[in-house]
Amino acid sequence: MGHTGLCIRIFAENFSIHNSQFNMNLILFGPPGVGKGTQAERLRDHYHLHHISTGDILRAAVKAGTPLGLEAKKYMDSGGLVPDEVIIGLVREVLLRDQAEGKGFLLDGFPRTVAQAEALEKIFSELAIPDVHIVSLDAPEDELVTRLVKRGLESGRSDDTEETIRRRLEVYHDQTSPVQEYYNKYRSVHSVDGLGDIDEITRRIHRTLG
Ligand code: ADP
Repeated sequence: MGHTGLCIRIFAENFSIHNSQFNMNLILFGPPGVGKGTQAERLRDHYHLHHISTGDILRAAVKAGTPLGLEAKKYMDSGGLVPDEVIIGLVREVLLRDQAEGKGFLLDGFPRTVAQAEALEKIFSELAIPDVHIVSLDAPEDELVTRLVKRGLESGRSDDTEETIRRRLEVYHDQTSPVQEYYNKYRSVHSVDGLGDIDEITRRIHRTLG
């Protein structure tokens, strides 16, 4: 290898070490209405992360009328989950792209089932992603319903009607809260109280992340 080639290699290696040291990767976990979206935007800006919201990706696909959107709409409108194989493939593609660009990520709304969490672990080892912090936000169910009904009135989101909200919370208890148990077993989880002032919740997250 010539001098220039060697220099490029040393630079590339240092660059990738530098990147993996400073890239923060986060999973923001919690029930519908707990404030993941709001906190995700703040964390994205603070740590310069790519915010990957599966809900936003699916809503954009529905709006654009793509095959994914047409498939997803029926599940979303009923408050159910889009099938694992659809959403896992989608997240994998986005993470592959992020890695190529050397960006840290913030996952919001994924994983939502244990199968998704297991698939994500495989993607992490495939892409050699070392450190991932899990922040789990929580709030009492009454508060979640109140917030979601209010958001429905303001945003006009088609799945923020009272009946669909109840269904989404049920789906959360049945299919998503086992993900928390899964992570409690295999990874360390930063639990944060999602009740209170938005700025205070952001400070709590920063404190727990150190
Ligand atoms: P919220 O957290 O307020 O319920 P999201 O915007 O995260 O809303 O998701 C909206 C809907 O999109 C979900 O109810 C579900 O139908 C679908 N969805 C989002 N993420 C996933 C996922 N990881 N797996 C399956 N379905 C998903």
